[in-house]
Amino acid sequence: MDRAGARLLIDVGAVIANWRLVADKVGPKAQAAAVVKADAYGLGADVLAPALAEAGCKRFFVATLDEAMALRPLLAEAEIFVLSGPLPGTEGDYPFHGLIPVLNSTEQIGRWVAQAERVGRSAPAAIHVDTGMSRLGLTLAEARALAEEPSRLAATGAVLVMTHLACADEAGHPLTPLQRDRFALARRYLAGLPGSLSASSGIFLGPDYHADWVRPGVALYGGNPTPGQPNPMGQVIRLQGKILQVRDVDAGDTVGYGATHRCQEASRIAVVAAGYADGLFRSLGNRGAGTIGSWRAPLVGRISMDLVTFDVTGIPESAAHPGATVELIGPGQDIEALAREAGTISYEILTALGARYLRLYGARP
Ligand SMILES: *Cc1c(COP(=O)(O)O)cnc(C)c1O
Repeated sequence: MDRAGARLLIDVGAVIANWRLVADKVGPKAQAAAVVKADAYGLGADVLAPALAEAGCKRFFVATLDEAMALRPLLAEAEIFVLSGPLPGTEGDYPFHGLIPVLNSTEQIGRWVAQAERVGRSAPAAIHVDTGMSRLGLTLAEARALAEEPSRLAATGAVLVMTHLACADEAGHPLTPLQRDRFALARRYLAGLPGSLSASSGIFLGPDYHADWVRPGVALYGGNPTPGQPNPMGQVIRLQGKILQVRDVDAGDTVGYGATHRCQEASRIAVVAAGYADGLFRSLGNRGAGTIGSWRAPLVGRISMDLVTFDVTGIPESAAHPGATVELIGPGQDIEALAREAGTISYEILTALGARYLRLYGARP
């Protein structure tokens, strides 16, 4: 018996196919890592990271030390990089657990090198250079200063130099080639280190942006890395809610909090078991639609915490009845379409998916 009001179907094979598409696109000169931070964008790093490792992925990126420690026992061989870098006092946890920090500041480098001196051995790390995000990373001047101290650079155990593009998803943005050129300069300073420049969108800017390692995240999970153009990635999730009740309402009746939807005529309203606590953005109120079989049912009224309402007038009762399924994410409305309706990006749709769904993982290819 399936007790859940709503289910999230996650196609593991589609994630692997998306990773292979990226790996083939950048190969053989560059290799594809996988970004599985935030629980693989909400879809389950415990399932997806081992599946990607089995498919040949050798490098993973997460945001925090806790995420990395949870992943470590599930990935026998693969390297795990931690994007936030070591917080003060956690430096020893990285070599202890076999994890690789991304060093984002001279301050982090200072603590990292001090530890290497303490234990008499350097451990692997990545060096992040900021080329235009003004978020994490060394300035170009700091990268140059580090390069001018070869013994300090050696003590960092650097195995990778990386940067992150700010505007790769905006075609023709002038900051993107500027960041590429600044990164080339940083790599000249830190000569000999393998480089990593691009996340999902940068990968689709061509070989100039591939360096040695690419770091796809959202593209693996079906997000469109080329906004405004057809999505080259396969869709990964379907989200289906069950109808709890179908009610007949009179012309002039209103639906939900705030009475924001008024029925123009006698209507049938299906009440479905998913709400903003499950990641259906409240901004979707009176926007978007669900699909029931081949029918489209407009979403009406505000989204409640646990419930959402659809106008199913005209859809036969044999299709729209208690226990039947309304698809909220699927071929009829993918994560990009839903994100547009909600006024956000597919990243936020994915990472907001709640914990209440029955999660079903599709078979591997
Ligand atoms: C999140 C993140 C990525 C992955 O980004 P996508 O746009 O999801 O591919 C890559 N690199 C860094 C530094 C990140 O923070």
